Amino acid sequence: MIRRRVDIVGGGLAGLLAAIELARQNVEVAVWEAAGEFGGRARTRNVDGFLFNRGPHALYCQGALKRELDRLGIRYSGGRSLTGPRKAMAGGKLHDLPTAFGSIMKTSLLGIREKFDYALVVKSVMDGAVGVGSFADWLDAGRLTPMVRATVEAVARLSSYVNAPDTVSANALLDQIRLASGGTMYLDGGWITLVNGLVETARDMGVTLRERAAVKEVGYADERLEIAFGDGERRFTDAVILAVGPREAAMLVPEILALQDEAREACAARANTLDLGLSRMPQGASDFALGIDTPYYLSVHSGSAKLAPQGGALVHIARYLKIDEEPSANAVEELEAVADLVMPGWRELEVTRQKLRGMVVSNALPRFDRPRADVKVPGAAGLFVAGDWVGSEGMIADAAAASAIKAAQEAARWLFR
Ligand SMILES: Cc1cc2nc3c(=O)[nH]c(=O)nc-3n(C[C@H](O)[C@H](O)[C@H](O)COP(=O)(O)OP(=O)(O)OC[C@H]3O[C@@H](n4cnc5c(N)ncnc54)[C@H](O)[C@@H]3O)c2cc1C
Repeated sequence: MIRRRVDIVGGGLAGLLAAIELARQNVEVAVWEAAGEFGGRARTRNVDGFLFNRGPHALYCQGALKRELDRLGIRYSGGRSLTGPRKAMAGGKLHDLPTAFGSIMKTSLLGIREKFDYALVVKSVMDGAVGVGSFADWLDAGRLTPMVRATVEAVARLSSYVNAPDTVSANALLDQIRLASGGTMYLDGGWITLVNGLVETARDMGVTLRERAAVKEVGYADERLEIAFGDGERRFTDAVILAVGPREAAMLVPEILALQDEAREACAARANTLDLGLSRMPQGASDFALGIDTPYYLSVHSGSAKLAPQGGALVHIARYLKIDEEPSANAVEELEAVADLVMPGWRELEVTRQKLRGMVVSNALPRFDRPRADVKVPGAAGLFVAGDWVGSEGMIADAAAASAIKAAQEAARWLFR
């Protein structure tokens, strides 16, 4: 029997997962990656033994990415994040972050009445609260005090990276808060260990993997799909999965209107990050803090995973940007000020740093007024998409994983129809 062939454009988590899923179905698969290495935003840089992910990365224990990695037998290790006492930042001061009954009652962040109101909101979310419209609509209906509302919004940002209550779907965000409450993991060696595991598995299964292979165009010739590379080479194929962002997908296949729509409508979640390698943690520093009246996050990822040399500490600090918010000129100073509040004395202990401005965390957040793109591209036979802007399941890397598996399954169905 002639083996059918699928070409996958993009070798991030989505492209690699889709490749393995298809190879398991005896399909001939090739993955084309424009960059010099696989992994996309899941890559990790090693600077003097400090392992910098592309900003703070946590694996959701109940999410689709972990589920699919475990199903495919990809190995990784690490520790549960956020197990110790956590801080909230409000009014330029640190308070206990209200997480469980004890910290809700103890925190100086909320007044007595607010503590009970907040506890009731948490209970209703955990009991399966649903909402119509945007997350802001859901919050409005709760008639919360400004501080209780700000605290719920901060927990929502932490769970999802989304700083857009007016745009994001209430139901998607409530689901994400529940998912995040199931815990997250920081990974030993960084997320590149996932990428390496996927690349190794794909290679063992006979997948063709090419770096520095930018695809320039995807189209139809003689009613067959054809892909063209930057160096002029062209090849026919039976199906294509575009595992790239919505703008790249629209540029690769300009005649498909559905992709142009997705590129225009996608609302990305973005962040500025300052990632610090310290020779040690300063004495008395907190290892986690969440901004309540400001959209900041700080967490010592080396506290629960092997990401720093012996005795050293790797700290991620981030600002969750609003949709279309440009990183300010003093983006780095803002993040340094967060470090000053949470871990005074850090400046003398800095060994190295990584600064990322306006990084796309997720190409499209789930909007309340529009579903995300389907894996099957309307009006384009044999063409599929995958990534963190596709499908109805999950957010960020979980959406990338869920849509990758679905795109692979739909592509296989198309081949053997
Ligand atoms: C600061 C930050 C923090 C994050 N934190 C978390 C977190 O805590 N938890 C979580 O679940 N997720 C997190 N994420 C999101 C996660 O990294 C992404 O959702 C995931 O890596 C996306 O994978 P992908 O394969 O869909 O896309 P990408 O990783 O973007 O991969 C797309 C690939 O396609 C390639 N490409 C593009 N155009 C072409 C072309 N023409 N030809 C060939 N190749 C091409 C690119 O080079 C790239 O390698 C975070 C992201 C950032 C930036």
